[in-house]
Amino acid sequence: MNGLQEQLERRRVDGLLRSRRVIDGAQGPELTVDGRRMLAFCSNDYLGLAADPRLAEAVQRGVGRYGVGAGAAHLVSGHSRAHHALEEELAEFTGRSRALLFSTGYMANLGVTGALLGRRDSVIEDRLNHASLIDGGLLSRAAFRRYRHADAAALGEQLDGAPGRRLVVTDGVFSMDGDVAPVTALAEVCAGHGAWLMVDDAHGIGVLGPQGRGSVAAAGLGQDQVPILMGTLGKALGTAGAFVAGPEELIESLIQFARPYIYTTAMPPAIAEATRVALRIAAEEEWRRERLQGLVQRLRHGVQRLGLHLMDSPTPIQPILLGSSEQANRWNAALQREGILVGAIRPPTVPEGTARLRITLSAAHTVAHVETLLAVLAEVAAEQSA
Ligand SMILES: *Cc1c(COP(=O)(O)O)cnc(C)c1O
Repeated sequence: MNGLQEQLERRRVDGLLRSRRVIDGAQGPELTVDGRRMLAFCSNDYLGLAADPRLAEAVQRGVGRYGVGAGAAHLVSGHSRAHHALEEELAEFTGRSRALLFSTGYMANLGVTGALLGRRDSVIEDRLNHASLIDGGLLSRAAFRRYRHADAAALGEQLDGAPGRRLVVTDGVFSMDGDVAPVTALAEVCAGHGAWLMVDDAHGIGVLGPQGRGSVAAAGLGQDQVPILMGTLGKALGTAGAFVAGPEELIESLIQFARPYIYTTAMPPAIAEATRVALRIAAEEEWRRERLQGLVQRLRHGVQRLGLHLMDSPTPIQPILLGSSEQANRWNAALQREGILVGAIRPPTVPEGTARLRITLSAAHTVAHVETLLAVLAEVAAEQSA
């Protein structure tokens, strides 16, 4: 096809070509990747629930009761008792009036901005927001502004003079940096300007706050301060899909106007059943968060001792800043030779000159796994500086 080959070749020459790996077997720290055993530090399975037998059993029970496919969109005949119960439990878990399921987090984000904003409105986003939030903002056709990363004062300046309804959007935990948004300061600025605040807590739900209720709960904020809370189910909760939680009128508006909600098939009911179990485990098994935090501290101390540029993150997302895409690729290849899998994050996912290794930890990792990673990082660091 005309021009595509050249475009792909340019991407390859720039060291930016993306590719997939084939994984055999269940998710976990030890993966079989293209037939080879590897130690993985790149999933978002923060609580180690993706392969939990209790979730697998819930899926089987769910399939027995509901069959496999939802068969239709929620508004047609696809909204099962399982979906409905999960929505009620998510509302309770997040301390919101209501919650609404979406098939993916990407669609939830497109749905919120599309339903709430039109061409006379404004959407104001953190510069480092997830791609789905940026896309949602652009697709909404509202005036699109961005503010300096995690800077509430800069947000205030952007809000001055922004026309129409004003929706402010931030990640709760930034997916490529691991830092936590200053949600309290952002909420104050929004209140002062009569703007709505939306927090995408894809990496905070299950991980942060009391019982894993997320970054917004950790800051002690309710739906009066943060009216729009989005979370995903495919990360710490180990299943798939997403939700938006908030006041009654928000959820009803999404049901009426969010096209990625209306025009898509509901998630399989059995997945909703498994997510109900995951939610209960996430709330009850505090040891998973304690173990995760212990591993984060161990990794940080070790990486700092090696003199590497570890970014400032309190979460299981622990990036090592390298700079160029070429550097990130070189480190990534060296780690892979030693049987370690991490994320090599390059532009356009992150800004030019900030390519990095993205290490993520899970409660399923052991101290021995982290020690192995540190030993290999030490070897690779010596090799790269030689
Ligand atoms: C993963 C992610 C999403 C998308 O969620 P999916 O369910 O995987 O589509 C949205 N926002 C953030 C911040 C994410 O990290």
